[in-house]
Formats: sequence, structure tokens, C-alpha cells
Amino acid sequence: MARYIGPVCKLCRRSGEKLFLKGSRCLSPKCSVERRTYPPGQHGKDAQFRRGRGSDYLLQLREKQKTRHVYGIMERQFRRYFREALRRPGLTGGNLLSILESRLDNVVYRLGWADSRNHARQMIQHGHIAVNGRRTNIPSYLVRPGDQITIREESRSRQYFKELRAYMEDRPQAPEWLSVDVNSLTGAVIRLPERRDIDLPVSEQLIVEYYSR
Ligand code: SF4
Repeated sequence: MARYIGPVCKLCRRSGEKLFLKGSRCLSPKCSVERRTYPPGQHGKDAQFRRGRGSDYLLQLREKQKTRHVYGIMERQFRRYFREALRRPGLTGGNLLSILESRLDNVVYRLGWADSRNHARQMIQHGHIAVNGRRTNIPSYLVRPGDQITIREESRSRQYFKELRAYMEDRPQAPEWLSVDVNSLTGAVIRLPERRDIDLPVSEQLIVEYYSR
């Protein structure tokens, strides 16, 4: 599956806020949003002064793009998730965020095993993660309640995984819908995430409006 491989800090500067795409660097003074508070590009500094509220369409587009960038998803896949959210009962915006949160790369990140979703994606693609005992190298795999997520035995001898428990101390705790056992490095999906579980500062209603035009 294709993914964005350009400079990610530009995406934050374009959104005008931190999207936390680079792990620990995002919390350091090196963060580009803090060093350069204007949009990227040759005329970024001029645009800074022109930046107003913008049209309704612009607000909807920004919200959609921001969410897409946070989860590292290309437009076609994102649209597919939106169609799936429409099919499910309940509020479409909440359904969409629930689907995005259920991606395996997000789950590995939320368990505290990776520094960022990109990092989690790499771990999965390199075959370090197993779901219900089976090696799974598909970052877009959607987890289900009862799924057991583990770091494969073959990978545990690697330096990173040996030190993982120490790294996890500095990372946010797993959300309520997941459980994690730090000693055995296993995680489980208790239930599907709901909107209240997702600490993402986005207005999902604007995304629904964007695709409903
Ligand atoms: Fe965004 Fe992180 Fe880069 Fe800061 S360091 S601009 S939060 S990706």
C-alpha cells in the first residue's frame, strides 16, 4: 500500500499545529512547528499574515487532511474508510475515527511499543508483530475485540525490544480499550474504540461535511 514519504514536518506546518508524526523529536525544541511558525513554501511567511479563518470548504479540507496525515493514510484508502463508516450504524464521523484507531499500526503505537505510527508501521512490515499468534505484516489490518497482539519470539532478542520496557515508561499509557502487559510484552483489544477514547483534536463532523459535498 502506498504511503507518503515526503517531509512530514511540512505537514504539521501546513496544518498550523503539531501532528506528532516524529515521536520524541515532536516534544523537543527541534520541532519545526515551534521553530518556524509559518506555513512551508517560498511565500510561507507572507501567507502567515494572510491566514484567516478561511472558507467552509477550506476548514473541511484542512480537517480531513490533518486526520489523514496523523494516521499516515493516502486519499484513496481514507475515502474507503469513509465509505465503510457510512455503512456502519451510528454517527459516521465517530465510526470513521474508530476504524482509523483500529488499524494495527495505530494499535502498536497506542500500546507504547513504537515512538510514532510510522515507527509502528515499520515494525509491522518488518514482521516483528503477531496477531493471535500469527505473524502479521499488514499495517492496515483492523483489529477486533479479543485480538491478542504480541511481539514475536524471534524478534525479542533484538536490542530495541530488549530495551522496550524502559522506553514504554516515557510513553503515554495505553487507552482504556486496550490492555497491555509490560512484562510479557503482550497487548489485547478489549473493545472497539469509541469517540471519547480518541484524544485527537479533530472535528470529525467537518470531514463528514467534506465528503458529503
Ligand atoms: Fe510535527 Fe513532530 Fe515535526 Fe514537530 S517534530 S513539526 S510535531 S512531525
